[in-house]
Amino acid sequence: MEKTLHAGLLVLGGGPGGYTAAFRAADLGLDVVLVERDPYLGGVCLNVGCIPSKTLLHAALVLKQAREISDHGISFSEPKIELAKLRGWKNSVVDQLTQGLAGLARQRNVKVLQGEGQFAGSHELRLTGPEGEQRILFEQAIIAVGSHPVSLPMLPSDPRIMDSTSALNLEDIPKRLLVLGGGIIGLEMAEIYSALGSQVTIVERTDGLLPGCDRDLVKPLQKEVCKRYEAVLTKTEVSAVVAESQGLRVSFSNSQESAYFDKLLCAVGRAPNGNALKAEKAGFLVDTEGFIKVDEFQRTTVKHIYAIGDVVGNPMLAHKATYEGKVAAEIAAGYRVANDAKVIPSVAYTHPEVAWVGLTEAQAFKTGRQYKKASFPWLASGRARTFGTEQGLSKLLVDPDTGVIIGAGIVGANAGELIAEAALAIELGLEPSELALTIHPHPTLSETLAFAAEAYEGTLTELY
Ligand code: FAD
Repeated sequence: MEKTLHAGLLVLGGGPGGYTAAFRAADLGLDVVLVERDPYLGGVCLNVGCIPSKTLLHAALVLKQAREISDHGISFSEPKIELAKLRGWKNSVVDQLTQGLAGLARQRNVKVLQGEGQFAGSHELRLTGPEGEQRILFEQAIIAVGSHPVSLPMLPSDPRIMDSTSALNLEDIPKRLLVLGGGIIGLEMAEIYSALGSQVTIVERTDGLLPGCDRDLVKPLQKEVCKRYEAVLTKTEVSAVVAESQGLRVSFSNSQESAYFDKLLCAVGRAPNGNALKAEKAGFLVDTEGFIKVDEFQRTTVKHIYAIGDVVGNPMLAHKATYEGKVAAEIAAGYRVANDAKVIPSVAYTHPEVAWVGLTEAQAFKTGRQYKKASFPWLASGRARTFGTEQGLSKLLVDPDTGVIIGAGIVGANAGELIAEAALAIELGLEPSELALTIHPHPTLSETLAFAAEAYEGTLTELY
């Protein structure tokens, strides 16, 4: 017989958005049921996204640094790559974190149910899972069903064609790998496979890597990957892929010749999962792409149903999902809050890393927004030199009328860590002088933002 459960708050989807919302709501006293179709909590980010990719990127960085230090007098023999062990380490990092989440759910009395949910009414969800069909009657709901990788119809169905999920399985290291898409995910995966020994070719439709990011930030990265990879083909599209026994035969839009690759990674973007929920039964609006429409309170067009994370729009990033999860949970618990984040930082964890937050020059160019700019090249950073790298740049964009910082960009080691200070400066409405007058520890890369601020103020006297 079908089981019926009651929930004060139903959270659909156990990724970073969903589990954050569920935990926050439980902490605020709501009776929470969290539904996840996969056996583990954590969603894309923990299982097949941020965490496994960053674990492998760490290994890639160690390999790169071990090779580069030979220029400075320390040489190692060629590294031996034990793929099964590396995969095991990556899986163990993921397992520790996802199991930790299960424990955190238990501590808070969040009831976790496994199964695929679809709405049957504005207060009813049907759940199909290992325990058969269940019915959940809820007072309020938060939808956090995330997104999935986009695939291209012209790609044949062949095990040598990977998406980011299968690429992270690290089944083997192909001799020649073609990466379709020069965005963050494509570049991070390329970095991993290249460090492990693949000859990598990247194909990007637009005229440069990381479309949308400022060109002065991309330039050092592009220079670096052009050295390391077999080819970086910009303004190029793949026109056909034929699966043959000796490899994948790939044709390109701007060339008569085709080339063989052992594997192909399709990293051309992600699409929201909003179309598979039977939204019409609950009455909330989903657009043609699958994004759920929400207001600044994360409310869908049905007042007691909220939506958060990848399924409500770009940028599809875990920290955006967790922020929105907290907002939705607090509103569901009766608090008067809203999604009033001014900025959301973006990071490509490539080597060098690229990070940006707030206004970019590319956006300003498109919209005609006025700005003033100051930058600090890492050539003059003592700390960058001690890392054996001088490739890097920190820059600030300032509103000419109010004098406050409205954007920042960093390329170089640990840019992803450093950008948080700029995000805080923008949220607090700080002026460059306030960054410049904050004493930063020396020698650190964090000084480079303060130096950019000093350059803006015209007070930059001390380099190194
Ligand atoms: P998800 O994490 O997608 O979780 C949604 C969950 O809902 C899933 O577990 C899914 O199984 C479940 N679900 C879906 N439909 C149903 C249903 N009908 N019933 C029950 N359950 C359902 N972001 C960053 O910020 N930093 C990074 O470094 C980063 N790296 C990434 C690397 C890769 C390779 C990829 C693919 C993504 C990366 N991202 C990164 C993006 C990040 O993973 C997502 O933005 C984030 O996971 C979105 O969280 P979410 O909670 O909205 O959805």
